Amino acid sequence: MKYQPEYYCPMHPEIIRPTPGACPICGMDLEPRLMDEGSIETKQYKNMVKKLLLSAILTVLVIVINFLGIRLTKNLEQLANWTQLILTFFIMAFPGGFVFKRGWDSLKHWQLNMFSLLSLGIAAAFIFSALGLMIPNIFPESMRIHGSVPLYFETAAVITTLVILGQALELRARSGTQNALKSLIKGTPKKARLLIDDREEEVDVETILPGNNIKVLPGEKIPVDGTILSGATHIDESMITGESTPASKKIADRVFAGTLNQESVIVFKAEKVGQTTLLAQIIESVAKAQATKAPIQRIVDKVSAYFIPIVIGVAILTIFIWSAIGPEPKLLNGLLHAMSVLLIACPCALGLATPIAVMVGIGIGARNGILIKTAEAFEKLKGLTTVVLDKTGTLTKGKPEVLKIIPTNHLSQESIIEIATALESNSEHPIAKAILKKAKDMGIKTLPPVKDFKAIRGEGIEGIIGNDPVLIGRRQFLEQKGVQLFDEVDSAAATIVYIAKNKQYVGKLYIQDGLRDNAKTVVENLKKNNITVIMLTGDREEVAHHIAAEANIDRYIAQVNPIQKIGYIKELQSEGKIVAVVGDGINDGPSLAQANIGIAMGTGTDLAIESGEITLMNGDLNGILKAISLSGKTLKNIYQNLFLAFAYNVICIPLAAGVLYPLLKLSLSPMIAALAMSLSSVSVIINSLRLLKLK
Ligand code: ADP
Ligand code: MG
Repeated sequence: MKYQPEYYCPMHPEIIRPTPGACPICGMDLEPRLMDEGSIETKQYKNMVKKLLLSAILTVLVIVINFLGIRLTKNLEQLANWTQLILTFFIMAFPGGFVFKRGWDSLKHWQLNMFSLLSLGIAAAFIFSALGLMIPNIFPESMRIHGSVPLYFETAAVITTLVILGQALELRARSGTQNALKSLIKGTPKKARLLIDDREEEVDVETILPGNNIKVLPGEKIPVDGTILSGATHIDESMITGESTPASKKIADRVFAGTLNQESVIVFKAEKVGQTTLLAQIIESVAKAQATKAPIQRIVDKVSAYFIPIVIGVAILTIFIWSAIGPEPKLLNGLLHAMSVLLIACPCALGLATPIAVMVGIGIGARNGILIKTAEAFEKLKGLTTVVLDKTGTLTKGKPEVLKIIPTNHLSQESIIEIATALESNSEHPIAKAILKKAKDMGIKTLPPVKDFKAIRGEGIEGIIGNDPVLIGRRQFLEQKGVQLFDEVDSAAATIVYIAKNKQYVGKLYIQDGLRDNAKTVVENLKKNNITVIMLTGDREEVAHHIAAEANIDRYIAQVNPIQKIGYIKELQSEGKIVAVVGDGINDGPSLAQANIGIAMGTGTDLAIESGEITLMNGDLNGILKAISLSGKTLKNIYQNLFLAFAYNVICIPLAAGVLYPLLKLSLSPMIAALAMSLSSVSVIINSLRLLKLK
């Protein structure tokens, strides 16, 4: 599949550009995303390595000449110095040119960043040395050693090389943070076997249209979304659902682009192609989520805004203090320490701390079938107090079965099912699926046409068959519509769906949906985490009681319609509870939206992706626990990163300024400072990559 190439800034994920380049805010190299498989390997990294090689070779040359120069006669020493000047200038202008360009841009737009500091630091060393070589007479005694002005060309060259090394290391480390997204993108096959009247033709995936018949051999990937027309097989859907057990598929089952056919040949009808496939939507959702800001980032942003001015302030102060009370040569020492301050300060580590962890966390989620839509979800899940579970399709399998058909007047069982099926074939509700399945089992093929179909969420459905208005739904729904239900309320633990035709009560269906296998364990584990579990359902008290008891849920409310559900969630929130609502995403949209965190149980349809801040792609309740644990770990990683970055700057900047000099005679040379700075942002990235090792 073709993606619009997109480049974003890891430090400012909201910066997204169609072409590679540097971030206008922090000067950082933009990272590619949503690319074709072939161009995924970062070109920037290879470029940076080339620059590094050139810079390193020339720097070694400068060091050698500098070393020889000291040992030569006066005339040759001058020649050596001039050669150093020219070589260093070349290093700074060519392999290192981008550092100064970004530094210059930052000044032009007054968005001071790391490159402003680096440019200032390196330029200071170079200009000082160049002037020292050309017009040494202008320098006062406080800037001379044994009477002559020292030259720092090799320092400028080494620092430039170290900065390039840092950039290369960073690009290298960063490319790992997008592995999850990359493997999703790589998951889309390029070719497909199109069937045209029994003839098979290999075509580009992009040319497939909805309605085309596609053949897939064992071991091949499904190219687009569709429904199986012939064949039965097992398909590995782990790239979408995170579920490693292959799913068994037969005629009429849906298949998804990017999943892997394992056993036998199938033919399917293409339904969703290009950007509309489930995989494409997952990819888009992940990319979008990664561009969102975690709330903690706003605090970091505020701190960062003061960072550069503070560093420059410290550098100026350093010059003053050394000139006032430092050892001779006072001004020179001040200058060297100020340079170290500029070079060691690392705003990048601070800026990368949060977004890199978020990026990796969201990627890990996606790989495990947990689609997280915003960075905010991590923080909200951490403070979670209450989980509200919807019953149908969430706690239960969502595969209900019709147990009994009870006509209440002259109609036959077949005609009851016929009426129900005609209407329910317009509905997405699990109950509808149960009724459709029953009709199929009973061999009912032709259905009367339905006019004016309407679904009333959490209540039932209505429509007109022939000239008769038909109502199907819960008892209260029919009563509200003025239907007389003359039988007693039943005490069976089954969902009962009532049917009325032309305002006459004509029959009811008993429907039962089993509890999900792991529901009880998940509820238990949530409780162990001190989370209150509550079940809400529109279904009858008897069914609710039965399911709640089976799942070991102490609090449940039955017979609530969607509006009452929202009211109840609001009530919990007004008590200060942080509420997650888990629903099937089909008819629970409003509750999911009201919740602090809406968790939609994926049912393999695109609908589920849209509602809810988190989607559990494989509809596995255990995903709730996984999401909570992933959030905890991602947040912890963010804090670690922030700690690393803060500690680094808080310790290193004073060290570079020379606070330990009076005590220990310890100072950091500008070269050591540049090295430390290059390693610090890499250390933050590597810490986030540790997350990838999570189970
Ligand atoms: P839950 O809260 O358990 O998820 P819903 O809110 O989806 O249940 O639905 C509540 C009740 O409304 C169902 O138990 C059923 O009686 C009725 N109902 C809703 N949709 C339909 C439908 N399509 N066909 C028949 N009955 C329906
Ligand atoms: Mg429901």
